[in-house]
Amino acid sequence: MQEKVIQIAGSITVDELAQALGLSVTSLVGELFKQGIVATINQRLDFDTASLIIDELKVEGVRLEKKNTSVQVSEVHRELSDHAVDRPPVVAVMGHVDHGKTTLLDTLLNKKTVEGEAGGITQHISAYQLEHDDRLITFLDTPGHEAFAAIRQHGAMLTDIVVIVVAADDGVKPQTVEAIKFAQSANAKIIVAINKIDREGADIPRTMADLAQNGLTPEEWGGDITMVPISAKRGDNLDKLLDMILLTADLEELKADVDIPSEGLVIESHMETGKGSVVNLLVTGGELKTGEFIVAGSSYAKIRTMVDFKGRPKGKALPSTPVTVTGFKELPNFGDKFLEVADEKTARKMALLNANASSDAAASANVTSTDLLRMMNVADNSKTFNVIIKGDVLGSVTSVVDSLKLIDTHGEVTLNIVSTGVGDVTENDVYMAAGDNTVIYGFNINVPTNISKMAARDGVSIRNYKVIYELLDDAKSSMEELLDAEIVEEEVGEMKIKGVFRTEKSSIIAGGEVLTGKVAAKLGDSEAKVMGRVYRKKELIGEVEVESVQKEKMAVPELVAGETGGIAFNLEKRLVIEIDDRVKFFTRELKRKKL
Ligand code: GDP
Repeated sequence: MQEKVIQIAGSITVDELAQALGLSVTSLVGELFKQGIVATINQRLDFDTASLIIDELKVEGVRLEKKNTSVQVSEVHRELSDHAVDRPPVVAVMGHVDHGKTTLLDTLLNKKTVEGEAGGITQHISAYQLEHDDRLITFLDTPGHEAFAAIRQHGAMLTDIVVIVVAADDGVKPQTVEAIKFAQSANAKIIVAINKIDREGADIPRTMADLAQNGLTPEEWGGDITMVPISAKRGDNLDKLLDMILLTADLEELKADVDIPSEGLVIESHMETGKGSVVNLLVTGGELKTGEFIVAGSSYAKIRTMVDFKGRPKGKALPSTPVTVTGFKELPNFGDKFLEVADEKTARKMALLNANASSDAAASANVTSTDLLRMMNVADNSKTFNVIIKGDVLGSVTSVVDSLKLIDTHGEVTLNIVSTGVGDVTENDVYMAAGDNTVIYGFNINVPTNISKMAARDGVSIRNYKVIYELLDDAKSSMEELLDAEIVEEEVGEMKIKGVFRTEKSSIIAGGEVLTGKVAAKLGDSEAKVMGRVYRKKELIGEVEVESVQKEKMAVPELVAGETGGIAFNLEKRLVIEIDDRVKFFTRELKRKKL
């Protein structure tokens, strides 16, 4: 695998670096926080900071390079090398419901791919490629505008060209307007297919006027939007539509690098019995091959099988190619970016980072500042108790989670629920827990022997309980262990010095009267030594430690208020005690706080 080079001109934003590394912004912010850098999504990092992070993350196959121009990295990242090659255009079909999107995609597919083949393709496919004039065009099924919008928020460029289908007998409708807005905001080129021209009520000029009113002026009227009247059902003018797509693509000079680690987007994913996860990917860069390790969001895969949209095995896939792969450990999400990495270890690590981040910023496609703040708090690992909860049924998982959240840590320890689930502890749970001090709590479940062994090897603690209170007690004491220990001082007594018998470098023997409390060398079972602060007229002049206590030249355990006796003090620093000095005795212990 070749190295991926991220060029940095001066600085790089957190967002850009996350993208370039194929990480989510939240996970990168978390990593930064661990390095003591509090960063927001738009924060700029200098070259050294970015290098430090990459080293720390141990991301392999990525190298930073200083670039001495003013080009921003987001452009640099997409900027192509001199040997970038042409790639087919990626086209999405959008428009109002019932205006003929599905019919158009189906007709094109059958017209162009079925020739010479028996049966054709009947099952639903999310993306396909067809050939026109000996060139390939990639079509994406429209997964709904919301999904497209979500992808855009991830900053990914999914489509080069959007074909907006408008029924000539119905005109511009709300979803048509939405599609136009989407295409414009995604910076995609727009081509309009005025459909259903075979229909009686079809009115092409009126439809064009409708479109012009919505900002799409036809070329015929001096605008820059190509409009092709078609009948998706009968197949009229579809070749013209394809010609226009290729022409538009030519003007865009669509290219991609192939000698970089492969990357792209998840365009569909589902489970299939016997195969496990079946995931459709669109390659956008590099050359995807079977056997490679790729990370997509919180999941990763060693690509086991790869087939094209017709189900034919494909050993490698170039940019703009849609493929279906198996081998993902878990289902990645629609719109997740995938990135090739060097090995399983890196894949696992990056997936884990993304998982931790997304479980925290859960369910929000957009990272808000609140998410970031919360994420930052969580990232301070010293005070974060990471847990994975597994239970026998959903109800028990919920009650464990709810009860854990009720443990009041006075804001001193953050409980970070990395993941929850029903069923036994799995390999994946252990992977997720490894290296992050995450405790796996099981409630009424089994821990298979191989999993216990794996956990022991990876230093992961799996704690299985059948009684919820015991589980909660354990969690509470584990959180207490994370609390800072504090220094606790307790007053013991006070003495007035009445005579000094011997002063040496590291010891003094003096006598006096105990005014309050008592004085002793040791208090009960406590290991703590008894110390004394020496005051001369209210001014603190030094600290001593009680070595032994005497009364009438006999060693005694203690002297109480009203008694007179002698004390042997140990000195840490040279000190002279005088008559009339007062010594206030105390113990000093390091105590762990309690919740
Ligand atoms: P979608 O909701 O945009 O995917 O629309 P469909 O492709 O499902 O089409 C909706 C209806 O319009 C279906 O009954 C199609 O057969 C019909 N339809 C689509 N294109 C044409 C066309 O060019 N001419 C005619 N007459 N009917 C069409």
